[in-house]
Amino acid sequence: MCDGRIVAADTRARVESRKDARQAEKIDVGGRVILPGFVDSHTHLVHAASRAEEYELKIQGVSYEEIAKKGGGILNSVRRLRVATSDALKRRALGALQEFASYGTTTVEAKSGYGLDVASELKILQLHRELNRAQPLEIVSTFMGAHVVPAEYRVSPDGAERYVELLTEQLLPEVVNEGLAEFCDAFCDRGAFTRSQSKRILSEGKQHGLAPRVHAEQLSRTGAAQLAVELEAASCDHLEHINSTDIRRLAKSRTVATLLPGCDFHLGWKKYAPARKLIDAGAIVGLATDYNPGTCPTVSMPIILSLACTQLRMTPAEAIAAATINAAFALRRDDRIGSLEAGKQADLAVFAVEHFREIPYYFGMNRCWMTMKRGEIIHMQD
Ligand SMILES: [Zn+2]
Repeated sequence: MCDGRIVAADTRARVESRKDARQAEKIDVGGRVILPGFVDSHTHLVHAASRAEEYELKIQGVSYEEIAKKGGGILNSVRRLRVATSDALKRRALGALQEFASYGTTTVEAKSGYGLDVASELKILQLHRELNRAQPLEIVSTFMGAHVVPAEYRVSPDGAERYVELLTEQLLPEVVNEGLAEFCDAFCDRGAFTRSQSKRILSEGKQHGLAPRVHAEQLSRTGAAQLAVELEAASCDHLEHINSTDIRRLAKSRTVATLLPGCDFHLGWKKYAPARKLIDAGAIVGLATDYNPGTCPTVSMPIILSLACTQLRMTPAEAIAAATINAAFALRRDDRIGSLEAGKQADLAVFAVEHFREIPYYFGMNRCWMTMKRGEIIHMQD
């Protein structure tokens, strides 16, 4: 590699026989397995605190939606974020990013959506930019003002509509003017936004140059996956409740079906997304953590791979492709990251295993030995 890019990726003999290899510094990985760095294409990176206080309630069987109705859930995170200082939010996110790197992740998508008012949403998006500069991982910023309708808009019957208006007429133009996001996301589901509200927000975002992504069919089937295809979204995520027509449409599209099995696992749900059907139909399947305080408090892509293999019945090779090159495609960066090829960024993760299948096989154990971003070592196991 040179200047943070891969010059050649080949057998040792072929690489060593190159002229430019003579001056190169050698790093001996001791027979360990080298992968492209993981691309985590779905996270809610910036949040003020954990929601561990809801954990026992969930275990007792109180549903995610019931907790949300009582002012818990996302609105709980919103209250905390609004009063948190940027410094405190930044410290927490920086700590998480170091942990992401320690599990082999080199690129992290990050969504706003715990602010839900103009100042707080901008505070999160500005942090994405600062975090991108303050540490080695690449942060891909997504505007997700359409996470849920904030409490102050729930008191009147037309509150949701008025909030959509605030998003499309006030917030979106400001986000775009300041260049604070690449993507626009909406949670299109029961208890969040309807299909037509989501369409309005995402279409408006698209007109402003923000490519759409959708939280789709997680709690119920709303037609959000087909909306994603219709809008040529970069990705639609969750998909526990998709049907066979949705699968066929996704398979014919370039919209990545991003699966988040960590959520189902953490919430104790038995219904996982139909990964096999999606793959067999020809859809592009991605995997991500959905790192967030409410439904998936982990930064570990290896454990997501374990869940993908045992619960979604993906093979280790399919799961690794889903968390690297397919995820890079979902972030429209497949020309630059997601695989080990000459010309691409030298984003690598080295695992202390004998075969790549051992990465998901050892679950809950961190076998990541070294992580490299643009040719720089950013994590090394002690
Ligand atoms: Zn999410």
